[in-house]
Amino acid sequence: MNSEVSGRPRVIDNVAALRAWLGACRGSGRSLGLVPTMGALHEGHLSLVRASRARCDATAVTIFVNPTQFGPHEDLTRYPRTLEADLDALAEVRADVVFTPPVELMYPAGFSTYVEPPEVARPWEGVCRPTHFRGVATVVLKLFQLLPADVAFFGQKDFQQCLVVRRMVRDLNVPIEIQVCPIVREPDGLAMSSRNRYLSPAERQQALALSRGLRVAGELVERDQREAAEILARVRGELRAAGIERIDYVALANPDTLAEVERVAPSAVLLLAAYVGSTRLIDNCLLGECLLGDGSPLDEPRE
Ligand code: AMP
Repeated sequence: MNSEVSGRPRVIDNVAALRAWLGACRGSGRSLGLVPTMGALHEGHLSLVRASRARCDATAVTIFVNPTQFGPHEDLTRYPRTLEADLDALAEVRADVVFTPPVELMYPAGFSTYVEPPEVARPWEGVCRPTHFRGVATVVLKLFQLLPADVAFFGQKDFQQCLVVRRMVRDLNVPIEIQVCPIVREPDGLAMSSRNRYLSPAERQQALALSRGLRVAGELVERDQREAAEILARVRGELRAAGIERIDYVALANPDTLAEVERVAPSAVLLLAAYVGSTRLIDNCLLGECLLGDGSPLDEPRE
C-alpha cells in the first residue's frame, strides 16, 4: 500500500534505498533519531519513537529479529513477528521510516566479525545468556553504521543492555548519543514486553510478582532498609509466594558497574530475571538516590 495514503511509514529493506533516504534527510539538514527494535511493538517501543520525535526532525525505526543474540535453546523461531500491526502502530506515532533488513543483509554468508562486548556485559544476563550481548553489541553497531543517527533511543527495561551500548559507543568512538527512556508498564505494573504475549491468563497474574517485588524493595529503601540481604530476601519471597520457582537472578548491583553490592548506599539497581511458566521475563528499578534525571548512570553523561 502507498505509505502516503495509509499514513504508514515508508518501509525500506535494502541499503541503496536506505542511503538515498539518508542522503535526502541529511541534505535537508534534518537531525535523525534511531529506534532499534525486534518488532512485535507495544507502548514501550512507541514511547521511544515519541521521544525521538520530540528531539529529532526525522525518526527511523529498525525491526530485525537478530539471530545472534538468541542462545541455541531460546525462542528465536517462535519470537512474534507482527509486521502489519507494527506498521499501523508506527503510523499512529508518525515514524518516518522503518528499516526491515533481511537476515542476509545483516549476516552475509561467511559472516565472522563480532563486537567483543565491554566488561559490564559479564554478570547477570551475561552469565545466563553467555553469547547474548555479543550479538546485541554486534547488531547495534551494524545498525549504527547503516543509520548514522544523531541520537539512538533505548529502554531502561533492558538496563544492562543500555550500559553495554553506552560503553561500546564510548569505547569505539561511535558519534551517536544514547538516550535511555523509562520503563513503560501495564496499568497493573507488569513491564511491557513482546514476550508477555506468551503468558497464559494464569501466568499473566503470576508475572505481577516481578513488579510487586520491585515495589516492595522501593518501600523498604524508603523506610531506610539498606541491607541487600534483607531486601533481596523479601523480593525472592514475593516471587516464590506467586509460585515462581525458576529464578535466574535477583540482584542488587552498582548501577554503573553492575558489581554486586551489600548495601543500597547511596544507590543501587535491583535486577530481576525469572521464568513464569516457560517464559523468561526481566525487570529492574533504580533504588536510593539515583532516580532518572538525577545523575543516574542512565542519564546522558554531562559535558
Ligand atoms: P526489543 O524489541 O525487545 O529488542 O526492544 C527494543 C527497545 O525497546 C529496547 O531499547 C528496549 O529496551 C525497549 N523496550 C522494550 N520494552 C520496553 C518497555 N516496557 N518500556 C520501555 N522501553 C522498552
